[in-house]
Amino acid sequence: MLNTLGIHHISAMVNDAQRNIDFYAGVLGLRLIKKTINFDRPEVYHLYFGNETGEPGTAITFFPWAKQLKGRIGTGQVGVTSYSIPKGSSLFWEQRLKKFHIEYTITNRFDETYLRFDDPDGLHLELVEREEGPFNPWSFGEIHSENAIKGFNGAVLYSAQPHKTADVLENVLGLDCIGQKQEFLRFKSKAHIGNTIDIHLKPSVRGLMGAGTVHHIAWRAKDEQEHQRWRALLLEKGFYPTEILDRNYFKALYFHEGGGILFEIATDSPGFTIDEPVDDLGRKLMLPSWLEPKREELEEVLPDVKVRILEGDE
Ligand code: ZN
Repeated sequence: MLNTLGIHHISAMVNDAQRNIDFYAGVLGLRLIKKTINFDRPEVYHLYFGNETGEPGTAITFFPWAKQLKGRIGTGQVGVTSYSIPKGSSLFWEQRLKKFHIEYTITNRFDETYLRFDDPDGLHLELVEREEGPFNPWSFGEIHSENAIKGFNGAVLYSAQPHKTADVLENVLGLDCIGQKQEFLRFKSKAHIGNTIDIHLKPSVRGLMGAGTVHHIAWRAKDEQEHQRWRALLLEKGFYPTEILDRNYFKALYFHEGGGILFEIATDSPGFTIDEPVDDLGRKLMLPSWLEPKREELEEVLPDVKVRILEGDE
């Protein structure tokens, strides 16, 4: 039986690249680990934010495109992206959100407390304290490892067919179903981050893809050999996985699960240091070899963006 270790990355659509960087790097203190382009649409950035090295289970990625119509968060999508923060750091984060005038609410699931807020495009995010998982050594401005986001805690899935999604999580991805509380069904994987997946059993509206929504969630495969076994398993179970695609930093395949959510399976290797050293991650526009001849042309159409320290209010 194959078991995924949990979330590899989550990819979402937004409107503005600089605003996206200001929020995920500037406010949340994640590291911009890769500045590249959408391999299928090279005139659009593909930005990756994660912990210091962008380990699997920490990377959120965005396709910022100004003309993208606004979507609607609902069924057939990842509804909430959940981040893990160190024990005792909630107060730091409440103060930080206040400093940047970000409204938040405090919610409860499975007897745990979540700080819930939206990013500037409306994506639902939350922070939860977790003992497990290594500290993130990346420091940015006032955010140091004792408070820094460690990586994903997990995600809340808004499925159109919760029982079908539950079946995929348990019987295809090999996660453990650990129980139901109120309208949430919880699954766990064995990794220390990206390991807690909740299915919301009563999500409201139907989701519409567009800016401010998650495009897909990717699950971890150990290596290329295991990746091929995942593909064979999906075919055997009656899904329609894509061919295996080379995403430079990992190999990827995609399929729609029964509840309408686009799932990807991605390999842990080679990772984000394949084309630039750890110290330089995210500084330069990285292009796959087949687009390198078009660098000048692309640099001209892509907006200038940079990671910057934001002041906020004292
Ligand atoms: Zn992906």
